[in-house]
Amino acid sequence: MTTTQNREQQVVEGVAKGLYIGGSWVDAHDGGTFPVEDPATGNVLCEVADADSEDALRALTAAAGAQGDFAAMAPRERGEILRRAWQLMTERADDLALLMTLEMGKALAESKAEITYAADFLRWFAEEAVRIQGDYKVTANGLGRTWVIRQPVGPCVLITPWNFPLAMGTRKIGPAIAAGCTMVMKPAQLTPLSMNALAQILEEAGLPAGVLNIVTTSSSGSTVAPLLEDPRTRKVSFTGSTEVGRKLMQQASENLLRTSMELGGNAPFIVFEDADLDKAVEGAMIAKLRNIGESCVAANRFYVHESVADDFSSRLADRMGSLKVGRGTDEDVDLGPLIDEDQRGKVAELVDDAVAKGAKSLVGGGKMDGAGYFFEPTVLGGVTSDARLLKEEIFGPVAPVITFSSEDEAVASANDTEFGLVAYVFTEDLRRALRLVEKLETGMIGLNKGLVSNPAAPFGGVKASGFGREGGSEGINEYLEVKHIAVDL
Ligand code: NAP
Repeated sequence: MTTTQNREQQVVEGVAKGLYIGGSWVDAHDGGTFPVEDPATGNVLCEVADADSEDALRALTAAAGAQGDFAAMAPRERGEILRRAWQLMTERADDLALLMTLEMGKALAESKAEITYAADFLRWFAEEAVRIQGDYKVTANGLGRTWVIRQPVGPCVLITPWNFPLAMGTRKIGPAIAAGCTMVMKPAQLTPLSMNALAQILEEAGLPAGVLNIVTTSSSGSTVAPLLEDPRTRKVSFTGSTEVGRKLMQQASENLLRTSMELGGNAPFIVFEDADLDKAVEGAMIAKLRNIGESCVAANRFYVHESVADDFSSRLADRMGSLKVGRGTDEDVDLGPLIDEDQRGKVAELVDDAVAKGAKSLVGGGKMDGAGYFFEPTVLGGVTSDARLLKEEIFGPVAPVITFSSEDEAVASANDTEFGLVAYVFTEDLRRALRLVEKLETGMIGLNKGLVSNPAAPFGGVKASGFGREGGSEGINEYLEVKHIAVDL
């Protein structure tokens, strides 16, 4: 065994494989496990505990039992736990990044960037824990007082996707801890190891037993449903597809749960004739290829003014064509594999559909041979308006370019989608930029910038991209109830 293989094995061996319930790592009650795969090789890395509804309800019992004491813990103490966890994540970034690359596929440099981003949510919310605001006012008639306090919502069910195995978790766990909420977390089946490693770190940082409970499972629907029906659950926060978000909303409505929904995207990336094209191509590389294109904020449709479209497309094709695709753990690899064959098949289908309708491939265009779920970085020119990839999330390294001739046309095309998570706009004209940021129907905008994610900013969408905000000073409010106390003097 080589030194590299040795280290990979050690990192996987170092992670707990059980369910984390009430502060202990336990087997699923029926002893069931499921495999975790390396998407670069198709090899099984290890087995983890496979929870069912009985295990999930045990986890909820632990969360409900811990809620009272945790809500009463001093905010400073909750903040310090988060701060220590940030410190530990930062110190162990190399191992955490390797673990993430092994189960998710992205290149090591990208995994490291995610560890920093994920850890920063813990640091940010460590600072927010001591700033939960109340209010005290004289009533309009001067006779009474209105007094408003904010309290933890109570036990939360948190559900996260595989594409950012840690950051999507800390974006929920950080504010929940800061606010004083206990949790049952269900990570994605494809990437459970990173979340277990985070739980080990939070435990080491001093998080009391029962505050965070983790149920890994291969049957998410039947495991989560009883949690949403149980009156002890007070909130569900979900990050994932719009389709599953809709289902969870229906289930949550029975129990009238508070909900936060971070759902799918279909981001337009608009390049005007007055844009700085160097900046636009640089922004496109980030907005398209971060996380191998498997990101809710990935640029999905490139609307480029007809006068600069050829120049932009050929520069983007040159850059994308020169990337090194390979196993994320290998030196100098820029892009790893897609998460699995289903995802790769879907990307291939969308490209084939666009080409059948008239698009031309400027670079790439298909699956790569050999083991793993690799797909060529692809730029498509002359994409027609009926191509499916303009309506659906591609979730892969494919950039479709469509030309436009007027600002109104660009805005209308950009808004012609059920989604509304993020839009990217490249223009050097300040007045045009101001018009655009108001007209685009999205929760976030990258202005001459291909990256909007930042723990200090409110992340979230409108329309079918969901509601609620994670990060920023807004993020903690998702985990707080407002209580008004009326009193006359
Ligand atoms: P997904 O299929 O919706 O799954 C997300 C999570 O929900 C996983 O943990 C999944 O478990 C679980 N799940 C699936 N069906 C469920 C059910 N019936 N009841 C309870 N839980 C259920 O999404 P994905 O493929 O993992 O992630 C990609 C999607 O997430 C994309 O649409 C992307 O845009 C979106 N996303 C949005 C944001 C945002 O902030 N807006 C961020 C990242 C990703 P299993 O793993 O067992 O299926």
